[in-house]
Amino acid sequence: MGKAPPALPGPYNRRVSVTSIRLFGDPVLRTPADPVTSYDKELRRLVKDLTDTMLDAAGAGLAAPQLGVSLRVFSYHVDDEIGHLINPVVDLIGDEEQDGEEGCLSLPGLYFDTKRHLHVVAKGMNMHGEPISIEGSELMARCVQHETDHLDGVLFLDRLDTETRRTALRAIRAAEWNGEHVPAVKVSPHGPFAFGGARALR
Ligand SMILES: [Zn+2]
Repeated sequence: MGKAPPALPGPYNRRVSVTSIRLFGDPVLRTPADPVTSYDKELRRLVKDLTDTMLDAAGAGLAAPQLGVSLRVFSYHVDDEIGHLINPVVDLIGDEEQDGEEGCLSLPGLYFDTKRHLHVVAKGMNMHGEPISIEGSELMARCVQHETDHLDGVLFLDRLDTETRRTALRAIRAAEWNGEHVPAVKVSPHGPFAFGGARALR
């Protein structure tokens, strides 16, 4: 997810494992990710890559598919709290919603009002295979929903109302990064299905 406080100083801003972020149009972003089954060195490396890349890009969260890895892992940096969650299961708490600007590191520079639940609880594992849970409201809740969506091949664009989605599509077509690093993908102007299988996904 885009937009976050600046990266913390000290050990958190090391750039050693920063890798490039996949952009909208890359099929990996539209592919449901696989559950993690091995809590090994490779997974710890992935968590580090996610965390370092997220901090380098000043994002509030980053999901593994955004690094081209189709596994159910994301990192977050919200309210000075840095962490990660593996195989998340999200419970939407209550009926209250929030509406506010949301962005995605795979659609650089684009922000649109996106409705989300106000409170969530997410349960999962840490990189050592120990059960953990995150309880959050507002930005944390938004981040958890945004990143978990990534693991299902869903983008925040899919959560926009019809009118806003139309505006978003125009902005994507005009974005200077569109068509870079990925094969050219046709974007249909005819409604939400443009984001379905044809793009098979940030
Ligand atoms: Zn995103």
